Amino acid sequence: MSELVISDLTAEVAGRPILTGVNLTVRSGEVHAIMGPNGSGKSTLSHVLMGRPGYTVTGGSMLLDGVELSTLAPYERAQAGLFLGMQYPTEVPGVSIQSVLRESLVAAGRMGDDLYATLSAEAARVGLDPALVGRSLNVDFSGGEKKRNETVQLALLRPKFAILDEIDSGLDVDALAQVSQRVEEATSEWGLGVIAVTHYNRLLEKLHADVVHIFAKGRILESGGPELATALEESGYAKWVEAAGGDEPAPVAADTDPFADPLGL
Ligand code: ADP
Ligand code: MG
Repeated sequence: MSELVISDLTAEVAGRPILTGVNLTVRSGEVHAIMGPNGSGKSTLSHVLMGRPGYTVTGGSMLLDGVELSTLAPYERAQAGLFLGMQYPTEVPGVSIQSVLRESLVAAGRMGDDLYATLSAEAARVGLDPALVGRSLNVDFSGGEKKRNETVQLALLRPKFAILDEIDSGLDVDALAQVSQRVEEATSEWGLGVIAVTHYNRLLEKLHADVVHIFAKGRILESGGPELATALEESGYAKWVEAAGGDEPAPVAADTDPFADPLGL
């Protein structure tokens, strides 16, 4: 049984405080959904957990099985068992999915006998064309292919905990069902613990959330069962945002913000 314990975590980006005291504990096999308005800091939380440069932890702690993550480089966090499925997966021209996965597995000391067979099987489970695994990582992939590919990487790497930042964005209904089912199966297959950032209850139809958290103003404001996601869909976030002191801070200008949501989702 593994445990990811985030306590009073505060962090800033570009000199601006974004995370204002996040408390969250996730154990093996659990699914925690995080739902919150645009610009509330959900992706920032993902990046801070994974150690993306430019995101500065200013207080609190994040412990994976007792190991403080903030002192580790991103690759060491990955080796410790953390995985991030990014909201906007990075394109890496000239580096194929297959080589990324082979090198990752070698680095983890887990090189299986037939990477290609496993890869093909996992690609089929989420409806990703196996021909894509020879192509450059994410380059010219459709939105759906990128998210399916993140899921295949997750399935091969078998991390202890996965942060899935809007894994449902860009997926059509069939792809959504396949991806959410694959992640749900992982929770029992090897006890994956999941933090799923999403705007939509429909992700949670197959990926069953044990806990739903309302996230606004850089922290979790309320936690409850799946019924919270349903209530939210009807009422919106206004109630929580107002209780926490008004609107989200004005976002930085779009041209300086690589993480702005171009679709306004
Ligand atoms: P969410 O994922 O909840 O929509 P984000 O975590 O992406 O929100 O963003 C929270 C706030 O932090 C936004 O106002 C965003 O503009 C700002 N922000 C995030 N990353 C950066 C960055 N690298 N540089 C400047 N501002 C950033
Ligand atoms: Mg985001």
